[in-house]
Amino acid sequence: MKIQSVEAVPLTVSFRTAFRFGTTDRTTSPNVVVIIRSDDGVAGYGEACPVPAFTGETQKSVVELVEQRVAPTLIGKDPGNRVRLLGDLERVVRSAPFTVAAVDTALLDLLGRALQVPVHTLLGGACRDRTEVHGSVGWDEDPAKMVETAVAQSQTYRWLKLYAGRGEIDADLDRLRAVRDAVGPDIELFVDINGMWTPSDLVRALPRVGEIGLAMLEQPLPPAAAAFQHQLVGDLRIDIAADEAVRTVSDAARVARERTATVINVGHAKLGGPTAALQAAQIAAGSGVGVMVGSVIEMGIATAMGLQLAAALPRLGYPSYLMGPLKYRQQITEPQIEVLDGHIAVPRGPGLGVTVDENELRRLDARARS
Ligand SMILES: [Mg+2]
Repeated sequence: MKIQSVEAVPLTVSFRTAFRFGTTDRTTSPNVVVIIRSDDGVAGYGEACPVPAFTGETQKSVVELVEQRVAPTLIGKDPGNRVRLLGDLERVVRSAPFTVAAVDTALLDLLGRALQVPVHTLLGGACRDRTEVHGSVGWDEDPAKMVETAVAQSQTYRWLKLYAGRGEIDADLDRLRAVRDAVGPDIELFVDINGMWTPSDLVRALPRVGEIGLAMLEQPLPPAAAAFQHQLVGDLRIDIAADEAVRTVSDAARVARERTATVINVGHAKLGGPTAALQAAQIAAGSGVGVMVGSVIEMGIATAMGLQLAAALPRLGYPSYLMGPLKYRQQITEPQIEVLDGHIAVPRGPGLGVTVDENELRRLDARARS
């Protein structure tokens, strides 16, 4: 089997409602679908979702890198030698984790479909047949809006992710308090600060964090302040997750070595693909650090990849962030994910286990619309 073509399709897609967190406001999303076809007629799909908070890549740069660097490197090669191909790509595609993640995903999907096995089998096999997921409540100036979203989501999810850091610190903690009061004590809450607090903010927030009953803080301090996190983490009785601080496998090793967090978010997109995410997860697990599978709220292809990765990890410290497709107006895969009892089933079919609607990809093609 040889790779015959590598294609990138930029999509025009949008969210059902605006989603705010960190310094980011998202109403549309610059996703790109990568399609790798083999000479025996099998197609594999990957999805890039380049968000500015994590990468300098854009929708246009993803398409150009795939067309100008990835395609010439991969065409004619055997997709079965995936890790070797990723090494070849490393030499020509640098500092573009979201592009490489989409290609890695498409290679895994292609191989899985060709061999008629699910991607999780290629990653070492399934440790679970469903994974718990959390809902997410975007930041809003108006606490009543956050309360309304949180209450609605608490019908579906046992865990909710909230955001803080954008507002004045006490006002942000008031918003979290309002959500806690509305959802009651049985819903588990954690907060992603996207690195926007200073060490002083964290010290000041800690008593109220405990009082509100938050299970975990994700990236409370910027990566450069990791040493403070290291000092403060010892005094905490809650988990600290590293997200923005872990962009590479060696970042994961550093967090594990310096013990600046108790959990590492191993989202496959920001880490440059499921292969790197699996390595980061193995380093974390081997160092006694927990892992969780994050995302940047992707559509059905990258989300299916997240589910396959979550299936292959022996231990997950927290629920996964894999309900992205539910936030989009448009859908490119079937079946739509379904959250049952707070969990999503791991797709069992070959490859990623989802069917990609290529007609819909053509219809959503941003180039056809401009
Ligand atoms: Mg995060």
